[in-house]
Amino acid sequence: MAFTLAPLPYAFDALEPHIDARTMEIHHDKHHAAYTNNLNAAIAGTDLENLTIEEILVKGFDTMPVRNNGGGFYNHNLFWEIMTPGGSNVPTGSLAIAINESFGSFDKFKEEFTKAGTTRFGSGWAWLCVHKGGKVDVCSTANQDVPLMPGIGCGGFPILGMDVWEHAYYLHYQNRRPDYISAFFNVINWDIVGEKYNANK
Ligand code: MN
Repeated sequence: MAFTLAPLPYAFDALEPHIDARTMEIHHDKHHAAYTNNLNAAIAGTDLENLTIEEILVKGFDTMPVRNNGGGFYNHNLFWEIMTPGGSNVPTGSLAIAINESFGSFDKFKEEFTKAGTTRFGSGWAWLCVHKGGKVDVCSTANQDVPLMPGIGCGGFPILGMDVWEHAYYLHYQNRRPDYISAFFNVINWDIVGEKYNANK
């Protein structure tokens, strides 16, 4: 069954001034749409066709069009969701405890996550992942790789992802990736991240 691009669940300008409307529109309607269409083309008529996206990320890992576009499809679904306007602007509950246990404080987590995003050379993502038992850690991946993929040196279940491809910020921030990363912390909906933590710990 073909995957479909869900509409952005809020207005393109909902994350202004941190992420501008034009960037959101192109990012969703062009980039995410292309990953979705290319994923469908890559799995059509193969034994991956009727699997879930999570299964495809593992079983289709060795096929580059599946890996790249399956990752792009999955990663952006998470990205739009964790930036949903509203919610808490800091972690709460059991996720807050887990972040303090792994990093010492929320500020230290922000430092680690920022470093993961700024030091990712070229295109990729920074992640906060939860492992079975509840421990959280930060890592980054190249291109559209997903922590769920096997053997990429970044594991666990992703509960927060930050896109650091230039298409995520270039119109507004140009080469200033650190400024985009700083602004990104203003649009994270920690209630949703916390729900993902509780569901996957
Ligand atoms: Mn992107």
